Amino acid sequence: MMAWTHAAIGAAIGPLAPDDASAFTVGAISHGAADLIPHRDFGMNVELPLLAVIMVYIAWRYGVRSKQFWGAVGGFSPDIENGLVLLGVLPRAIYPTHTKKAWYIGHGRKVRSIVPQIILIAICLCVAELDKPD
Ligand SMILES: [Zn+2]
Repeated sequence: MMAWTHAAIGAAIGPLAPDDASAFTVGAISHGAADLIPHRDFGMNVELPLLAVIMVYIAWRYGVRSKQFWGAVGGFSPDIENGLVLLGVLPRAIYPTHTKKAWYIGHGRKVRSIVPQIILIAICLCVAELDKPD
């Protein structure tokens, strides 16, 4: 999945966790499940600006001390590893949907359209509203 999709999923499920740290963990775990779904990915030139847009929105809408925000950070955080590998900072990825070695659990097949991800993001942002902090 694209990083902003992972962030939206994390924002939706983060409020299910009892605290911010747990929201981060739940978001990070959701990344693996979401990566198994057929999807389209882009290069960092597309992914980073879209991630910035959704994170600014989530921070503005729920605050940086919300479970939505920390779920979102957890959701996209495994992709930081991907970026560091692409930049040559890390030798290889170890997250189980990002590596072909050891504990690799797979990766969803490629699809051409990003419409399903945009629909999923919209649904997730609606779900995140259900537990909006006051
Ligand atoms: Zn991923």
